[in-house]
Amino acid sequence: MNTSVIELKSIFKSYGSFLALQNLNLKVDEGSIFGFLGPNGAGKTTTIKIILGLRKATEGEVFLWGEKNTRRGMKLLKRIGYVPENGSLYENFTPNQIVKFVKPYYPSWDVELEKGYFERFELPKNKKIGEFSLGMKRKLLLLLALSFKPDLLIMDEPTLGLDPLTRYKFLQLLTGEVAQGGLTVFLSSHTLGEVERICDTVAFIKKGKLLEVKLMEDLKKESQRIKVVFQKDVPQSALQIPGVEVLEGSGKHYLLAIKGNISHALEEISKFPIFVIEEQEISLEDIFVKKMEES
Ligand code: ATP
Repeated sequence: MNTSVIELKSIFKSYGSFLALQNLNLKVDEGSIFGFLGPNGAGKTTTIKIILGLRKATEGEVFLWGEKNTRRGMKLLKRIGYVPENGSLYENFTPNQIVKFVKPYYPSWDVELEKGYFERFELPKNKKIGEFSLGMKRKLLLLLALSFKPDLLIMDEPTLGLDPLTRYKFLQLLTGEVAQGGLTVFLSSHTLGEVERICDTVAFIKKGKLLEVKLMEDLKKESQRIKVVFQKDVPQSALQIPGVEVLEGSGKHYLLAIKGNISHALEEISKFPIFVIEEQEISLEDIFVKKMEES
């Protein structure tokens, strides 16, 4: 049986009387790039910190590689690269000094890899971090999280502050590492275009409740859109077909959302002579907005 890299069982988290997470159950498989999505304040950072044992769940259990993660379970943490949302670094240190400080904690630290990231990210080694731009600091956090060849990479808004070229290179690097095997990635992001490009599975969370976990492929399939121009006017009432939703339009022109079996829907729609039909690419952003509005 395939052991999950991360498994959350009935996680609840309260901050005083405020319930930030409600009965969260989640599994992340090995080799997955898992996107954790939700609006501001949904509970993403809280979940990430609970996974890492940096924050204690009020109820529930976290398993990493099938092993229960107790708070600050150092042994498991050595296998995890973590890029925090607001990662702070010692401003008086240089990257060289930080690396020297961090390296001894990780027996698997790879000096060649570290060198490669310094070059790839074009990071100065001897400049004080206090003089770095936001993007440079994020790059250094990525370098620190990747140079010891983690088995699991957990990232809270990893590309925040990166310029488009660096962002592109970083995402390429990430998918390359995962493709080579062994690495699992769990990330939260509001940049849905990049999530769409790299994640194979996504989970939606809102107000502390998990709404859905889906393979990206299935998510796209179940949310298809078509533009139809009929040869003659068709009343909206005639398009009340199971699995078909009229998003906009009237008369001859319609934009329809198709849920489920597209060929069955097309068969029904085609009962009215069609002039033009065109499939529309639906983005993760469209799907996200709809899910958040509907829930
Ligand atoms: P964002 O996308 O804005 O980063 P998020 O999904 O990561 O949001 P969290 O930071 O996990 O959200 O916060 C979830 C909820 O818990 C929010 O309502 C937040 O105000 C609350 N919260 C988080 N940390 C604390 C804390 N230490 N004390 C009290 N409430 C907190």
